[in-house]
Amino acid sequence: MGCIFCKIVAGEIPAVKLLDDDKVLAFMDINPACRGHILVVPKNHAENIFEISEADLSAVTGAVKRCAVAVKNALGAEGVTVLQLNGTASDQVVPHLHVHIMPRWKDDGLTVSRWEMKTGDVEELQEIARKVKEHL
Ligand code: 5GP
Ligand code: ZN
Repeated sequence: MGCIFCKIVAGEIPAVKLLDDDKVLAFMDINPACRGHILVVPKNHAENIFEISEADLSAVTGAVKRCAVAVKNALGAEGVTVLQLNGTASDQVVPHLHVHIMPRWKDDGLTVSRWEMKTGDVEELQEIARKVKEHL
């Protein structure tokens, strides 16, 4: 199959690897948004959070924690942004679930965590919460 991250997992294309266990691979992003940008992927192909099993997602989350702490300590980062996109509407480009780990420094200029804040309408928030709870 043509999945680029499956090819990295299979060793068919190279990557700068950090952590490699039975369920998860962590490697350096080839086009880093910042110094130390890491990706963590499940070894079993799953396109997004809707498809991945809870066991595989749990393994990914454990690896994200380890990599976030390691890169913070290694590079002396002041913070770490953890980002994970699902679907093209969310700007996901590679359709194999991956978590971005981005070391951060004050005033580093990365805009990925900046959005316009608008005061919420409490009635609308309650209505949305009611609808979501029906699906939990
Ligand atoms: P997305 O927008 O799907 O969340 O981000 C995909 C990420 O994968 C991008 O940050 C991009 O730089 C990275 N990427 C795409 N192809 C490769 C590759 O072949 N090797 C590595 N190491 N990273 C890749
Ligand atoms: Zn894949």
